[in-house]
Formats: sequence, C-alpha cells, structure tokens
Amino acid sequence: MSQKKEKGHRRRVEAEKTELAMIEGILEGSPDGIGVVVVRMQCGCRKMAAVANDGEPASKVIMYRDQADSICPQCKADNGAYQRVAEASIHWLDPPPDEERQEMIHRKVLGEG
Ligand SMILES: [Zn+2]
Repeated sequence: MSQKKEKGHRRRVEAEKTELAMIEGILEGSPDGIGVVVVRMQCGCRKMAAVANDGEPASKVIMYRDQADSICPQCKADNGAYQRVAEASIHWLDPPPDEERQEMIHRKVLGEG
C-alpha cells in the first residue's frame, strides 16, 4: 500500500453521533444512495441528502437541528442558504467510490473547484 496524499484544502470532517444516526436512516430509505451529503450550517442546523452513484440526489433533502423540534427561523426562511454553510462533506457508504468519482460527486453536489 502506498501512502495516501492528503489534499490540503479539504480536511476530513468526521460525522458526529447524531449525524451518523441520521445518515443511517437516510441510507436505509435510499436504496440508490452511495453516500450522504452532510451540510453543517453556521446556525447549527444540519442539512442532509443521499447522493447516488452519478451525483444525483437519491433522497429528499432533510433538515434538522440537534435537540430542537425544528430548524431555526433563518433556515425556515432561506432553506439553508449556501452563504451560511459552515462545513459540507460527504459521508460515503463503505466501500467508498474511487477518488475520481468522489471528486466528481463533490463538485456536482457541493460545487467545489
Ligand atoms: Zn438554522
């Protein structure tokens, strides 16, 4: 095994416990999903959706807020606007797709690069 080179600009974001529970639930309901996009908003709300092998959404977008009955008023108003995103990452099903496909889906879903 050769050593993997880390890309500096994209640090790995580990999913939190509550996020993992949500991710599992989303994947259970999304047979086409190969991963779940996890978007953390600056306000503390979360936005998630399963993504398919071709980068298309594989579930509806789910928004929630930890320890709250509903998302915050701002997210209700703008539906989690891109400008307020704190972190976005994709949690891949095991085994994850190859690097190239991950890149492609990242770009398609998160608009990076
Ligand atoms: Zn919010």
